[in-house]
Amino acid sequence: MSASRTVVQGVGWDLAGEYPAADSPAVDADLDAIGGLLDEIENRNATLVPLLTSARDLDAESARQAITAARDIHALVERAKPLLDDPETYAECRLSVDSQDETAQALLGRLQAVKKRFAELNEPLGQFLDQASGEVVETYLDDPAVAPSRFAVEHSRKQADELLPLAEENLVTGLAEDGIHAWGRLYDQLSGTLECEVTVGNELERMGIAEAAGLKQKPDDRLRESAWRAINTAWDGHVESCAAAINAIAGWRLELGRKRSARAGRSVHYLDAPLHRNRIDKATLGTLLAVAEEGIPLARRAARLQARAYGKEHYGPWDTHAPAPAIDGEEQGAIEYPEAVDLIATAYASVDARMGDFVRMAAEKRWIEGTVGPRKRPGAYCTRFMKSRTPRVYMTYSGSPSDVITLAHELGHAFHGWVMRDLPPSQQSYGMSLAETASTFGETIVRDALLKRAESPAAALRIVWEEAAALVTFVLNIPTRFEFERNFHEARARQPVRPVELKAMMAAAWEKWYGDCLSEPDPMFWASKLHFYISGLAFYNFPYLFGYLFSLGVYARRDALGGDFLLRDTGRMTAEDLAAKHLDVDLTQPDFWRQTLGALEGRIDQFENLVEGTDA
Ligand SMILES: [Zn+2]
Repeated sequence: MSASRTVVQGVGWDLAGEYPAADSPAVDADLDAIGGLLDEIENRNATLVPLLTSARDLDAESARQAITAARDIHALVERAKPLLDDPETYAECRLSVDSQDETAQALLGRLQAVKKRFAELNEPLGQFLDQASGEVVETYLDDPAVAPSRFAVEHSRKQADELLPLAEENLVTGLAEDGIHAWGRLYDQLSGTLECEVTVGNELERMGIAEAAGLKQKPDDRLRESAWRAINTAWDGHVESCAAAINAIAGWRLELGRKRSARAGRSVHYLDAPLHRNRIDKATLGTLLAVAEEGIPLARRAARLQARAYGKEHYGPWDTHAPAPAIDGEEQGAIEYPEAVDLIATAYASVDARMGDFVRMAAEKRWIEGTVGPRKRPGAYCTRFMKSRTPRVYMTYSGSPSDVITLAHELGHAFHGWVMRDLPPSQQSYGMSLAETASTFGETIVRDALLKRAESPAAALRIVWEEAAALVTFVLNIPTRFEFERNFHEARARQPVRPVELKAMMAAAWEKWYGDCLSEPDPMFWASKLHFYISGLAFYNFPYLFGYLFSLGVYARRDALGGDFLLRDTGRMTAEDLAAKHLDVDLTQPDFWRQTLGALEGRIDQFENLVEGTDA
């Protein structure tokens, strides 16, 4: 070995406190216990299920037995969940570090049947609580063990009037597997096997489209463009299949919406379900999009500056994941792991001492996996163990500023879970719109800290670049997706939409949001973007915009917030109620969103100075 430098990396995490191994007796014991609990749920379901068809007509007296069974099931489900979740989390954690861990694979296999059984046994309780009268539900909730689930129950019931008769709901769910979901799977199959030819240097290289998509993150402008063109050419050969899939997925939802409208006696809109799931109001979404539109000039300015940093006039659709351009002779010093932990803890503590303490504790207790390893999976995430109520953060830490920001982001998620750890499980889940509040918050604090210690304009540019790129993504790209998906649903409601129309519709959406800063639109984006084909979830776009601006708004108000901020309430309130209670703002009105967006103007000024300052 020649003069090798020590590799900068984080430490390995400690999972031993959860289970000694994936095939240990402790895992067997949990699976045995869950089997017993599921038997008990099945037993109570024998009382509940026969009453479901008449659930709407029962009063508190005639529903007495059903209420008792429902309360029992609620308690059993809350006991069963950790026993099912923890072994799965453990197996996934093991596989993240060693993707070939056989015992972890075997454990996941064992869990499959248990998970399916759990999900099926869980259904009747939800159906009962959705269908029963208000009187029955009040009686059910009038029990200290069940009372904490009030928000979840009431929120679910907001859509109860559109539920079809139980037998029909069950039929829809059953048929969906080979209906709407099959179209989603077809798309996944296609995108997993599709290949394209990218010009790399002077050679034409054949590769999968996922690999080609990775090239769009490279600092070589021509390579990014070549990868983008290659991917689009590949998709263009499959437009009929993609059009069939996207039309079927939307068609299924629209038809179901018509049935639900008839049942409810009111019009059920295709946006209702995604809004409900994200616990935000239609008025909030309308305001959010209107303010995003006001933000177009600022975001286009950021996009133009990104293009300029690459020495060109226009921003290309292949630039959406472009990194800061590489600058010759700029040596980046790696940040050692303990230094990163200290930097994050100090930055967090400047907002709230407990946040800083949490970061140090997470590092001391080794809740963070940060090693560099050959068999590690890419990416970063935060997860948690329910029984021990402790989080785990996964990533590969190799000392770059972006690693520090990733760590700060994931620790934000971990802190969010930490402040909620003592809440009942029914109050611990939150919508996607609020999920990124703490993480984006943590990221922003640490980015500020990194910027302060940046030793050169080039180093500062790399950090501010990410902020400018985020503005462009969230305020131009995400609304482009929303615009297309909305226009597509409108058109699909009349008739299936042909590939040529899908291309035109997508190009028009790009032109509306990016306008003259764009070199050309991306007409194939409706085919290349996986999000349009998630069969279980429509409009996987606006929650990103919401989360981005909301978390920046919270950040701007950080001094006014003490303690746990609003995080503890994220699982038991709508976004509007949460914002009213903790921030004293009305999310249906533009002020909050406008202020947040306006605060970014200074950042783009700074970005402009840096781009000009580092001009070659
Ligand atoms: Zn996140």
